[in-house]
Amino acid sequence: MDEISKVSKIQPEISIVLPVYNESENIEALYTRLTDAVSALDLQNAGAEFLFVDDGSDDDSGDLISELNRKDPRVRLICLSRNFGHQAAITAGMELSRGDVVVLMDADLQDPPEVLGQMIEKWRAGADVVYAVRQKRKENAFRRFTYFSFYRLLQRIANIDIPLDSGDFCLMDRAVVDEMNRLPERNRFVRGLRSWVGFEQVALPYERHARHSGKAKYNFRKLLQLALNGIFSFSSFPLRLATYLGFLTVLLGLLALVVLVGAYFIAGHFPQGWTSLIVVVLFVGGVQLLILGAIGEYVALIHDEVKQRPNYVVRKIIG
Ligand code: UDP
Ligand code: MG
Repeated sequence: MDEISKVSKIQPEISIVLPVYNESENIEALYTRLTDAVSALDLQNAGAEFLFVDDGSDDDSGDLISELNRKDPRVRLICLSRNFGHQAAITAGMELSRGDVVVLMDADLQDPPEVLGQMIEKWRAGADVVYAVRQKRKENAFRRFTYFSFYRLLQRIANIDIPLDSGDFCLMDRAVVDEMNRLPERNRFVRGLRSWVGFEQVALPYERHARHSGKAKYNFRKLLQLALNGIFSFSSFPLRLATYLGFLTVLLGLLALVVLVGAYFIAGHFPQGWTSLIVVVLFVGGVQLLILGAIGEYVALIHDEVKQRPNYVVRKIIG
């Protein structure tokens, strides 16, 4: 390691990427807690940048942030031209960040800035990625259950090892960020890509807080979209499901044949089954639709990739 990178390994310039979508009630508190946490890091002459990505908010989040930028030049603001979604906003922040280490953090204070110190410590000890793993979630039971099941399902069927209960909250070395920025894919499931690039990855347990203020910006549709993206981008299990289910239905059909023919010879009569016919038709029809849907998901992903559209459009950059 040369002299300069050795210095930055101790005193890194740190970029904190904060995706913002209608978070005006949280900006002030977030800024205060962030600056406190960063001063506690004792970065000395090495600096920090607070890279807010305004994902097309229609409240005054953008104004509040440019206000902060006038007081504190460490605050930078990237305004996207419309709402592109959380993953696209993070991607924009990662691509425009300049630090030796990059931290991804939600703007609603669910990811406590106070964890930064521990993250930097693990990075100094040699980790390239420090990903935060939730111990507890202060959310309603339905959400907790769906998140819990999703991560376990994803881990079972994904082609790569995606850690359980870890969201986008993490610290990454510049080398990792550069590699992730090089990945050309459009449907970005950032936490999956982060696992995919490899390097030295270390978990950091933390307690996920409740939202500081306001409502979750992920509605059910967006969450479902994220979950489906995670599954279909990192697993070909749904495609193979067609084969499994196909086998199963053929087996069931054969079994039915044997039973029915057996019934004819043993009991001497053949069931006049309208019901059984309908059940079979519905079942097979359902399986076909399900599989068609899975194939459709992959076609949609391919479609998105071939369009070659950028992940986001920047309207302006302040700072
Ligand atoms: N967010 C965003 N664009 C969106 C939705 C959300 O930039 O379209 C931001 C949001 O402002 C927050 C973070 O992404 O900082 C996480 O969103 P949210 O708190 O709604 O998600 P949850 O915590 O429920 O997963
Ligand atoms: Mg949140």
